[in-house]
Amino acid sequence: MSDFDRFYEERAGRVVSALKKNLFEALYTPTPEQAVEEIMKRIPEGSTVGVGGSVTVRELGLVELLKTKGHTVFDHWQPGLDSGEADNIRRRQLTSDIFLSSSNAVTAEGHLVNIDGSGNRVASMTFGPRKVIVVVGINKITRDYQSAMNRIKNEAAPLNFRRLNLPTPCAKTTFCADCPPPVRFCRVTAVTEVRPSGIPEFVVIIVGKNIGL
Ligand code: SF4
Repeated sequence: MSDFDRFYEERAGRVVSALKKNLFEALYTPTPEQAVEEIMKRIPEGSTVGVGGSVTVRELGLVELLKTKGHTVFDHWQPGLDSGEADNIRRRQLTSDIFLSSSNAVTAEGHLVNIDGSGNRVASMTFGPRKVIVVVGINKITRDYQSAMNRIKNEAAPLNFRRLNLPTPCAKTTFCADCPPPVRFCRVTAVTEVRPSGIPEFVVIIVGKNIGL
């Protein structure tokens, strides 16, 4: 094990402990492959799975794997959807058996910090599905709320909006300009401090590699 791997394992261990104190089920996997294994064994046969707008989930190949295993997947990023169809799928995610996503950041206090444009992801992580699985790369661990917001607004959001070719100032300049509506895609900020009481099983998996945005 390299010094970096040891460092990340120690950092993740602290966050896992904090998450557990906040009533989440939490674990660390050194590799993405182990994370995929942990996720798939928590998804029973025949489950419907809502998938949040998450580069991490796609990088792990989970959407295709779930479909291969015969699950009904509600994925509003699938190609060829018009805006009405994508919106319908977002609503189906709210009542799926399981919601699978990443988080924009996870703080050392064991809080999940997310900013959404449409709100479907933070809604599905708050109430609806009885099981939520969140998978995050070690790059998404932050010291506190302020550093989480800085990470989201000056790294994740500009990169994501550039990728999606959205007309936000951050996509052009690479930094947040705290832009006004209607161009503003940062519309809902949610901090999940403790497992929501309506979600009996909320699993957070931290992976010891950089994944997602
Ligand atoms: S507030 Fe505007 S400029 Fe800042 S990250 Fe969000 S969309 Fe980009």
